[in-house]
Amino acid sequence: MAYDFDLYVIGAGSGGIRAARFAAGYGAKVAVAESRYLGGTCVNVGCVPKKLLVYGAHFAEDFEQASGFGWSLGEANFDWPTLIANKDREINRLNGIYRNLLVNSGVTLHEGHARLVDPHQVEINGECFTAKHILIATGGWPQIPDIPGREHAIGSNEVFFLKALPKRVLVVGGGYIAVEFAGIFHGLGAQTTLLYRGDLFLRGFDGAVRKHLQEELTKRGMDLQFNADIERIDKQADGSLKATLKDGRVLEADCVFYATGRRPMLDNLRLENTGVKLDKRGFVEVDDLYQTAESSILAIGDVIGRVQLTPVALAEGMAVARRLFKPEQYRPVDYAMIPTAVFSLPNIGTVGLSEEHAKADGHKVQVFESRFQPMKLRLTDCQERTLMKLVVDADTEKVLGCHMVGPDAGEIIQGLAIALKAGATKQHFDETIGVHPTAAEEFVTMRTPVAG
Ligand code: FAD
Ligand code: NDP
Repeated sequence: MAYDFDLYVIGAGSGGIRAARFAAGYGAKVAVAESRYLGGTCVNVGCVPKKLLVYGAHFAEDFEQASGFGWSLGEANFDWPTLIANKDREINRLNGIYRNLLVNSGVTLHEGHARLVDPHQVEINGECFTAKHILIATGGWPQIPDIPGREHAIGSNEVFFLKALPKRVLVVGGGYIAVEFAGIFHGLGAQTTLLYRGDLFLRGFDGAVRKHLQEELTKRGMDLQFNADIERIDKQADGSLKATLKDGRVLEADCVFYATGRRPMLDNLRLENTGVKLDKRGFVEVDDLYQTAESSILAIGDVIGRVQLTPVALAEGMAVARRLFKPEQYRPVDYAMIPTAVFSLPNIGTVGLSEEHAKADGHKVQVFESRFQPMKLRLTDCQERTLMKLVVDADTEKVLGCHMVGPDAGEIIQGLAIALKAGATKQHFDETIGVHPTAAEEFVTMRTPVAG
């Protein structure tokens, strides 16, 4: 049967654009549907605008520390509308770049909400198109618990478009987004409280990293409240919000921001017209080749709920394009040693196993740890300390994990990820000459394991 397209991609986010462009580059006839914004979550309401706001928040520290280097500044004033307008301009520029990338690579762009008609057919804006393969790359959506007063709370889709910086913010959650936005609000001058339902935030990260960040944020004056969760939110006559916690306490705020995870975006996609199945958590179920239960339909990225990171969605998109249209170049995505950063202030950078994970996996581990005041702060009153940690297999000397909390941790961890991917041992680290004077050199100068 002749199809309109070889590949029809639903969703022009990180994964969808990558798959569409590569498939078209390999000679396939490709269409991509996008209902909201080119570039998806990452470009519009995720990684990119978030990082710009983190940069914005960081200036507060820079100004504070400048006096130690002889600078005297007038009173610093921050204007939220300027930051948001400049951020919007940059995002518009990126949207245009993505449009050009798609068009120039020969992909047909359909702007509108796509629905599945059958295993080989998609409907968009009242028109139907057939395709040999359909790729679901529809991403995720913020999930806010259904508590009374939920309508008064915002999520990450709204936070980037607030008209004004709230004076008092409650950030709910203990994952990436909560920790990053608590840092943004706090840095920009809002009175910020982070509420997390468990004992310590960032579950799954190395224990020392979680504790270190807790200490650093507390030093900076952020109000961290663990074992705390909101039962209801009420709007008061003056427009402010009253959050009643499960333990009966009442907190007042001007903004309650929920960052409590993301669900797959499958709204009105009409999966029921196909044999696609969902897993227990509601994400699209795929096999190792991103094949759903319906043989003509594949899925990648956040919608499959594996690792919700842009570079992972990109890698999955590329793998699908290669397997379908350039099989001789196909390589499966390797989910081991995925480096990641939390752009909290200070940053976390991490790759490989946490100490807890390594032990649970049966490794006999040696741990190397270093805590120090970054050189830049020696001339200031800032008491911030950096943490670096290596988790090493005591039998093979293989470095299993590298963890850092401190300035530029995200930048530093990328290079270490290559070393770990290549199977580096502690001896390789020891034999590597440091770059001096940097913080990063500490990773190659830790000699004595901490007492087990
Ligand atoms: P998306 O990028 O979400 O793209 C899906 C696209 O599909 C969207 O554009 C959507 O409009 C479209 N769509 C959905 N349904 C339809 C339909 N029926 N028809 C047509 N179009 C449809 N990751 C990092 O690696 N680093 C970070 O620093 C980082 N920061 C983040 C910060 C925030 C606040 C958030 C929310 C996420 C962040 N992420 C980060 C995660 C990252 O954004 C996602 O992992 C990534 O965007 C997933 O890509 P995707 O292609 O699966 O989906
Ligand atoms: P996460 O899954 O990282 O964290 C969700 C947090 O919300 C957890 O602390 C969880 O607690 C808590 N939570 C979940 N449900 C509830 C509830 N009903 N009530 C109270 N608390 C709840 O999700 P995020 O929303 O922070 O981010 C989504 C994903 O986006 C991340 O996992 C990451 O993959 C990606 N991302 C990546 C970034 C980066 O690379 N820098 C930045 C931002 C996002 P518990 O731990 O107890 O389950």
